[in-house]
Amino acid sequence: MTEDHDLSKRRMLRALGAASALPVLASLGACTSGGGGANGLSSYARPFSRQPFVAPRISEDRILRVIVGHRPFRPSGFVVKRETYDKKEIIHNYGHGGGGISLSWGSSALAVQQATSLPVGDAAVIGAGIMGLTTARLLQDAGWNVTIYTRAPSRHSVSNVGAGQWAPTSVFDEDVASDAFVAQYKYASRIAHHAYQNLVGADYGVSFKENYYLSDEPQEGGYYLREMPELFTSVVNLEPGQHPFPSRYVTQTVTMLVEPAMFLRRVRSDFFVAGGKMVARDFKDISMVLALPETTIFNCTGLGAKALFGDDEMQPAKGQLVFLPPDPAVDYLTVGGGSDVTYMFPRKGEILLGGSFELGDWSREPEAEVTQRIIADNRSLFERVSTRV
Ligand SMILES: Cc1cc2nc3c(=O)[nH]c(=O)nc-3n(C[C@H](O)[C@H](O)[C@H](O)COP(=O)(O)OP(=O)(O)OC[C@H]3O[C@@H](n4cnc5c(N)ncnc54)[C@H](O)[C@@H]3O)c2cc1C
Repeated sequence: MTEDHDLSKRRMLRALGAASALPVLASLGACTSGGGGANGLSSYARPFSRQPFVAPRISEDRILRVIVGHRPFRPSGFVVKRETYDKKEIIHNYGHGGGGISLSWGSSALAVQQATSLPVGDAAVIGAGIMGLTTARLLQDAGWNVTIYTRAPSRHSVSNVGAGQWAPTSVFDEDVASDAFVAQYKYASRIAHHAYQNLVGADYGVSFKENYYLSDEPQEGGYYLREMPELFTSVVNLEPGQHPFPSRYVTQTVTMLVEPAMFLRRVRSDFFVAGGKMVARDFKDISMVLALPETTIFNCTGLGAKALFGDDEMQPAKGQLVFLPPDPAVDYLTVGGGSDVTYMFPRKGEILLGGSFELGDWSREPEAEVTQRIIADNRSLFERVSTRV
């Protein structure tokens, strides 16, 4: 692969990144709506909130913490398949890139479907991230006795780092993935979308929020919005004057925000209430997996599958997030509008600023210059948000 090709590919992946996927509105048949608040609070029509837009206060001295995580990225897409090793049935469910939170219930449902011809009994799940927990819960619902074996607890998983926008983005490379994979991806997205809607509310940390995609270039279209428009509501292409943002092209939609720490804690607790057991174990190689007492084993090890099952296609995509104190008045998400991957998601207990997407970067430390860039891009954006009401 030439350097140029490699670079353009990296750029393309960035463009797919949690942050910068943008919809082609013409292909969605989207309409535009005029400004003018219905309740007099805001001069912009908002589909969801009845409040005026409030800009988050962004500066380096307000940083609470900076974290890093590695998305488990495979250009051909995530793996759901059953393999037989020495009389053990291993069902893989890993490699969901930047969309694993969104896809969790759907991909895990596909994994559990792979076991329908097996006698229901004891099952092992390796991994306590979002895939391991949702697989375990769906198995319990189907009558299995489940033990989760994991190197690290859920709160130390990549899943706990995920930003949590319901948008199955940066999951695969469109030039590489097969039609069969794309069908699997769409199926999993639809199941997951449906499952999450049943969990909306404070208990699981899932809520619907307005999302604004910002760009100064015509928007090329995020794959998920282009291909699955029915999963997104209130999709509107806004003209200048119809939104408060300083970008030329603004697309509005409504989707869910999943707060991973809250969600994982709650699903983990559901797992224990349903009789599940969790065992700390670091599997050094496949022989340790095959030595498990269970004959049906689900591999939900995320990036760990690269070493454990020798998956050479798997690559880390490093992402960095910066957290600021919460602001309950900020009630919308933004994606884009910066010099690189840029996003702002307001959670209950903090404001999350992103981001980055560095393919092949295994380093575990936050980088000061990335933090500065995330702060600078988001600050510059929100300093120019119109606060007229
Ligand atoms: C910065 C960032 C932002 C993101 N934003 C979003 C977003 O907005 N929306 C979205 O949908 N997704 C997002 N993602 C992607 C999402 O977080 C991941 O796709 C998802 O968390 C992967 O889940 P997982 O359960 O497969 O892996 P993990 O969470 O990594 O869990 C793997 C589990 O396996 C265990 N394990 C691994 N190897 C072994 C071993 N050898 N032995 C024993 N146990 C093992 C680990 O300890 C862990 O418990 C983001 C990710 C990052 C990093």
